[in-house]
Formats: sequence, structure tokens, C-alpha cells
Amino acid sequence: MQKVNLPGPWSRRTVLTCMGRMGVAAVALGALPVSVARAAVQKISQKIAQYQDHPKGTQHCSVCVQFLPPDQCKLVAGKIIPNGWCIFFAPKPNAGAAPPSAS
Ligand code: SF4
Repeated sequence: MQKVNLPGPWSRRTVLTCMGRMGVAAVALGALPVSVARAAVQKISQKIAQYQDHPKGTQHCSVCVQFLPPDQCKLVAGKIIPNGWCIFFAPKPNAGAAPPSAS
């Protein structure tokens, strides 16, 4: 086995200790529950989103891709009602389309 000379104060023990600690840290970060990771993401306030508790024309939360039934939104904080609306409205694909026929 060939001996490797490490530069400066790095001993084999120091390098192996650092690698071990990095491995432990990586495992710990990977083990974080998804709920903790999601909680770290800030939602936009209703004021900034200009949220209102009534529809804007035919646009309302229940047909928005961001809506999380029964009363949450992926983007906007706080309680969101299905009949609400905000400036981030984005329609679900096929929202308002006729249901498929039973043929
Ligand atoms: S309209 Fe705004 S508040 Fe409502 S679900 Fe869509 S993004 Fe959220």
C-alpha cells in the first residue's frame, strides 16, 4: 500500500474524522421530516396576495392549481375559502370543462 503524504497539519486521523463527521451531518439532514422542510418555506401574506373572500368573475380558489382543500393554499398563508381569489390565481387544467362522457 502506498503511503500518501498530506500537506500541512492534515493527518490521516484528521481527514478520516472530518469525513466521518460530514457523513453523519449528511445523514442527519437527509432524515429531516418533510413537514419540517415544508414549514421552513414561507407563504405569502393575504395582504400581499391581495386575497379576497369572494371570486373575481369566474376565477376562484377551488379551481386554482394552488388550492389545497378544504381551506389552504400552497402559496398564500392563512385560511383560504374555496370561493376566494388572489392575484396568484392560476386555473387548474380543464377547470370548468365538461365532465367526461360515460361511453
Ligand atoms: S387564488 Fe390565490 S389564494 Fe386562492 S388558491 Fe389560488 S393562489 Fe391560493
